[in-house]
Amino acid sequence: MKNLFLILLLGGLFSCQNAGQHSEATTAKTEVTYAGNPIIQDMYTADPAAWVHNDTLFVFTGHDEQEEGAEGFVMNDWMVYSTTDMVNWTNHGPRLSVDVFDWAKADAWAAHLVEKDGKFYWFVTVEHASIPGKAIGVAVSDNILGPYEDAIGSALITNDMTTQTDIFWDDIDPAVFIDADGTAHLYWGNTVLKYAPLKENMTELDGPIEVIDVPSFTEGPYVFKRNDQYFLTFSAQFPEVIDYAMADSPAGPWVYKGRLFDEVPNSPTNHQAVVEYKGDWYFVYHNAALKGGGEFRRSVCVDYAYFDDDGSMKEIVPTEKGVMEIDK
Ligand code: CA
Repeated sequence: MKNLFLILLLGGLFSCQNAGQHSEATTAKTEVTYAGNPIIQDMYTADPAAWVHNDTLFVFTGHDEQEEGAEGFVMNDWMVYSTTDMVNWTNHGPRLSVDVFDWAKADAWAAHLVEKDGKFYWFVTVEHASIPGKAIGVAVSDNILGPYEDAIGSALITNDMTTQTDIFWDDIDPAVFIDADGTAHLYWGNTVLKYAPLKENMTELDGPIEVIDVPSFTEGPYVFKRNDQYFLTFSAQFPEVIDYAMADSPAGPWVYKGRLFDEVPNSPTNHQAVVEYKGDWYFVYHNAALKGGGEFRRSVCVDYAYFDDDGSMKEIVPTEKGVMEIDK
């Protein structure tokens, strides 16, 4: 699909011939194409994760299927979209559904994909069929587009494994960060942010579950690294804003750095990914700006992320025009 914002920039190009005697001015027309937000307009999508593979940016999303005006999340599968120029996005369709997990019964909530040693691991939130509450599962494939199968045959995290709060939805929103040394780290939670390293097989915890203490944590952690500094972004408060913290290690300790992104109209939730692609940093999130959109009918968007000279993040302002097409 293509949501075009065409901006014509008139720039002066001057060519000088026989300097001092003759000069000629010509005008060049440069066409800049913007993606426009939301980037996905053929269905309602939410909770994006992002991964770069083979010079292609893949965005993995939840799929809001609730009817307009009705209440509650209706989410059964997860979608894959990709781009090579930030403007033209390909819809690869649903590539994973709750049905893949025999032990789960509903709710394809926020998920996150990572690649390790040639395999693709899709960490997902679902409702457990027999252990009350939400749970985290892992699907695996040799191909980024699947087909994906259950990597464990049971949940990686169940609600009864954490007891800091008694809500049934505190074990949601998995995010995995893989460091340069190959170690993998899992972050998840609602109300309380939890952390555990993962074993090399990506399907077992490699240590006790720890709690990360950051102010006003709500949900949706996402960790990335830039210039040897680690960033933990997360949804805070409710309606949700997005705040972030920094550390010198993926295990922390995390230093709270403040606001990254304000709340968006019509959607009290948000969920973000921060990714570098072809030299620029992108902030992938959702709002409810698509026609007919709302709390349960959200839409994935992309804007630029910027960093200060000291390495901290600049506050991100959402735009309607979105990001520019990358020159081919
Ligand atoms: Ca729990």
